[in-house]
Amino acid sequence: MNKKIEKIIEDAEKSLKTQFEVIDKNALKRQKDVLDAFRKFNVGQRHFAPTNGYGYDDIARDTLCNLYAGVFKAEAAIVSPLIVSGTHALSLCLFGILRPGDTMLAVTGAPYDTLQEVIGGKGNGSLADFGVKYREVRFDGEQMCEILRGDRTVKLVFMGRSRGYEWRDALKLSDIAELVKQIRSVREDVVIMCDNCYGEFVEDEEPISCGVDIVAGSLIKNIGGGLAPTGGYICGKKAYIDQIAGRLTAPSIGMEVGSYAGSYRNFYQGLFLAPHVTACALKSAMLFSKVFSDLGYDASPKPGVIPGDIICAVKLGSADKVIEFVRAIQRVSPIDSNVTPFPWDMPGYTDQVIMAAGTFVAGASIELSADSPIREPYIVYVQGAFTYEHAKIAVEECLEGLIKD
Ligand SMILES: *Cc1c(COP(=O)(O)O)cnc(C)c1O
Repeated sequence: MNKKIEKIIEDAEKSLKTQFEVIDKNALKRQKDVLDAFRKFNVGQRHFAPTNGYGYDDIARDTLCNLYAGVFKAEAAIVSPLIVSGTHALSLCLFGILRPGDTMLAVTGAPYDTLQEVIGGKGNGSLADFGVKYREVRFDGEQMCEILRGDRTVKLVFMGRSRGYEWRDALKLSDIAELVKQIRSVREDVVIMCDNCYGEFVEDEEPISCGVDIVAGSLIKNIGGGLAPTGGYICGKKAYIDQIAGRLTAPSIGMEVGSYAGSYRNFYQGLFLAPHVTACALKSAMLFSKVFSDLGYDASPKPGVIPGDIICAVKLGSADKVIEFVRAIQRVSPIDSNVTPFPWDMPGYTDQVIMAAGTFVAGASIELSADSPIREPYIVYVQGAFTYEHAKIAVEECLEGLIKD
């Protein structure tokens, strides 16, 4: 290895030692939570048997939902390969809860890119098409409370935990608790919902413990532990979960049906591994942030700060550098390392996007991956890593392109 690069990485790791210990301690706590849930529900080989047809009394499906509810300290949960992605899970929540004439209020700025069409699309079956209104506040408590007081049509308050494709810090649980307190000080009746993508297992609890009513996310991010092959989850208050289940399948049928001809084993095993894998991904984000900050790039999270999600964003400043970074990640991926990524028009996104996704599960971003919308100021988002060792190798490869001698 290039001696200069070796030294940069070594110094970065040394400076992150204390934070890595905090991450390990949290992973231990969350591993205990997960193990406790497995023991409470007596998970056994019988939960790995496939089902078919309607899937009545599918104990594998029902127990998996119970496990998630247990880990999230929620009243109920939906976990299903029939939910095709995180966007689908979030969309189900919105359509399950909101009715014509209701208003959705986003309070942490615009929701994730793929939700834009779900909320405001014209003629595509969006919430707007069904007469659901939308309002937005960007981290302004006063304005939020004013709207909540004045606009009684607000039925659901939406917050995004992760930075997504934005230049901001991910919400910490303390931020979420503060938001909930503010919301509840003016309105007891609104549903508080949190996009939990990339936030699972990052801290010692989940947003439900801060008073959030409903959370949703993707199984090919943190909580699937890299093993869940597809799917999404929703956890929260039973009354809302029932409404959402009616939307996922059909009203009155809800989660009584739904078979899976594959085995749920990977979903179970992935959940068991998730606290550890998330810890590796967190360390990876911190290493990228530290190293690129040291080289003079603006990074988020700030160097040495344990983030509230598993993403590291780096302002590289040019399309060329972004493309080179993403290609470096692809080169050191276990799958498709020979493939060269190019920017493309991805469904659900407004700008062209370039992605490195050399993953075992297609598109899984709990595995080491990087992506970037091709737009100013050319920020690359890197996330995931099954193992911290892989992240280190990737940092090295990215630096090779920047440091020549
Ligand atoms: C990934 C993600 C989603 C959902 O995206 P899918 O690709 O549909 O799974 C939503 N919000 C945030 C913040 C995300 O990171």
